[in-house]
Amino acid sequence: MLERAMDERMLQARGVLLDLDGTLMAGGQALPGAAAALRRLGARCAIVSNDAEHTPAELAAKLRAAGLAMEESRILLAGALAVDSLSRERPGCRVLMLTSPSLIGHARAQGLRPASGEADAVILGRDRTFTYEKLQAAARAVRGGALLVVCNPDLTHPGPGGAVVPETGALLAALLACTGAVPYRVVGKPEPALFLAGMARLGSTAASTVMFGDNPATDGVGARRLGITFIEALPHKLAEAA
Ligand SMILES: [Mg+2]
Repeated sequence: MLERAMDERMLQARGVLLDLDGTLMAGGQALPGAAAALRRLGARCAIVSNDAEHTPAELAAKLRAAGLAMEESRILLAGALAVDSLSRERPGCRVLMLTSPSLIGHARAQGLRPASGEADAVILGRDRTFTYEKLQAAARAVRGGALLVVCNPDLTHPGPGGAVVPETGALLAALLACTGAVPYRVVGKPEPALFLAGMARLGSTAASTVMFGDNPATDGVGARRLGITFIEALPHKLAEAA
């Protein structure tokens, strides 16, 4: 039973933060027991993912297609949160977006002004159309004082058949090679922003929240820094739960 794998602490917690990749889904498929776990946890759970490409609405649709029910408001994604927090802090600012087209649309919907030249901020996400010109524009903006917001620090993630899929952190390495050491903000795990947004959504505190995820270096380290209990989603546990 997945409930046994999830452990009693999850069933007792006021808020349960769930990682997505490798925890609820892998390769576009729901992992065994994930649907039952979401049903059982209901409104006490939220997804916190370093996804730096999709909007919550897009991800809710992907989840639905995989047979997982999760309302959009309980899906917290690093890319969308980067946009949301920037639009709160600097409403209407000009932002150079090295991200997906859907996150650029999300930024416009939040009142930000996506720019290609002069910018007050740069949002760096998983930009699959990253180019030399974009790198040059971002380096120029950051060296000129634009705030750099990085959706997640991940270098790669595993693709089908063990292929390497470059992530936002790999693009950050290229940018920092051009700018030298500059201050920047990271939204995704293990930094606190996603955890805090998840708890705010669920109305839970660190003491009443648990984080369930497969990556001790991001899910685990980030949770423990905030005093949130971390439960590791081990693959064999999920398999047993099926
Ligand atoms: Mg994961």
